Amino acid sequence: MTTPPTAWYNVLADLDFDLPPDLPPPVRREGARLDPQVPLSLIRQEVTRERWVPIPEEVARRYAQWRTTPLRRATELEEALGTRARIYYKYEGGNPSGSHKLNTAIAQAHYYKAAGAKRLAVATGAGQWGTAVATACHMFGLECVVYMVRTSLESKPHRRTIMEMLGAEVIASPSDGTAAGRRFAHENAGTLSIALAEAMEATQQPGTRFCAGSGETYSLLHNTVMGLEAIDQLTEFGERADVVIAGLGAGSNFGGLAFPFLRPDQGHVRCVSVEPAACPKLTRGRYAYDFTDSSEQNALQKMYTLGSRFAPPRMHAGGLRYHATAKVVSALYDRGLIEATAYQQREVFESAVLFARAEGLVPAPESAHAVHGAVVEAAKADRDGTSPVILFSLSGHGLFDMASYRSYLDGQVDEEIVVTEEDIERSLEHLPPQPEHQVAGV
Ligand SMILES: *Cc1c(COP(=O)(O)O)cnc(C)c1O
Repeated sequence: MTTPPTAWYNVLADLDFDLPPDLPPPVRREGARLDPQVPLSLIRQEVTRERWVPIPEEVARRYAQWRTTPLRRATELEEALGTRARIYYKYEGGNPSGSHKLNTAIAQAHYYKAAGAKRLAVATGAGQWGTAVATACHMFGLECVVYMVRTSLESKPHRRTIMEMLGAEVIASPSDGTAAGRRFAHENAGTLSIALAEAMEATQQPGTRFCAGSGETYSLLHNTVMGLEAIDQLTEFGERADVVIAGLGAGSNFGGLAFPFLRPDQGHVRCVSVEPAACPKLTRGRYAYDFTDSSEQNALQKMYTLGSRFAPPRMHAGGLRYHATAKVVSALYDRGLIEATAYQQREVFESAVLFARAEGLVPAPESAHAVHGAVVEAAKADRDGTSPVILFSLSGHGLFDMASYRSYLDGQVDEEIVVTEEDIERSLEHLPPQPEHQVAGV
């Protein structure tokens, strides 16, 4: 038995460079002073360079309800592929919310409660983040309001049901209850960036705080329990990872699993992120200062981005639709310390079904990106005549995603979703002005 980690791992401690600082937003819209009021405890975690951040006892006790999570060797999948690679996966779908997102939701609820919050407002794309925060709020006796991207809400009615069951209020975004929602009413399908702006606005009600999603540096930090456990678990198997693979949304899944493997004492481990070809922020975005949401009222962060107004084509992995990716992940990619890949939905579903048949677990469409990444790596290794240890994040289960699997089985998932250079350029035209000394070479 491995012992659970007692501290989170902070990758910033082992970087020999500083992250580009956040910048104030260029224009403050009058009357719209938004104050997310992030507790000091979380702000400290955002900037600290301490290598180990102790996990509060209350959070550790909650983690113990479902952690340590399983790390399994995918022997049946290996056999189905006929590969010589050894493939392991870390399964995060076995908690009440069904994904890795509960790792940070619980920590955030703990810190917000300690800071006096009564109610948390959140934005959710596919519904996993909303479900995670609803779960955490229920545990800590907080109220919860969830702004959910309208298309996702319509295609995933069960997500709404579980969130409401946990006591949360669920609102389709864009809604007519906020100024941001009314401003973007014409974008009826909604985007995560609009939902974020709406949730942020909800903090104008007393006692309500905005609970950020999975791109904050502290969200990545909280999720490092995955990677820390995985290192110990692989050691029990007598293995060390050669390649670590995870689906990339805002970054906490990838960062949470991969960062501990970037520690100097781990030797060289390739860390590969997988994003959908329909939302290719690392592989095709620009490293630039951008808004984190459509309110355009929050600090600018330097990130790989497609522009905060980028509306990805309709696709099934709603949790990977965010227009940008965490500034830490972005900085590591910029320095060549991690790798990025992008795949089409159809091939991703093919690998997901192969995995489900072999291993008996249905991956969330987001997690299926990592499954496919592992399948591709294994094939590459076989061609090269190597037999690496591949670890991937099975970040959540897909039991709420049957409508997506249904359309795949019915042959209704397009072979290829094309995002053109023009689509990306058009969206990037709306980037805020870049600071002078950064403009060169952008
Ligand atoms: C949200 C989500 C992701 C992406 O996670 P980020 O932390 O936003 O990068 C991956 N898998 C599942 C199951 C998710 O719910």
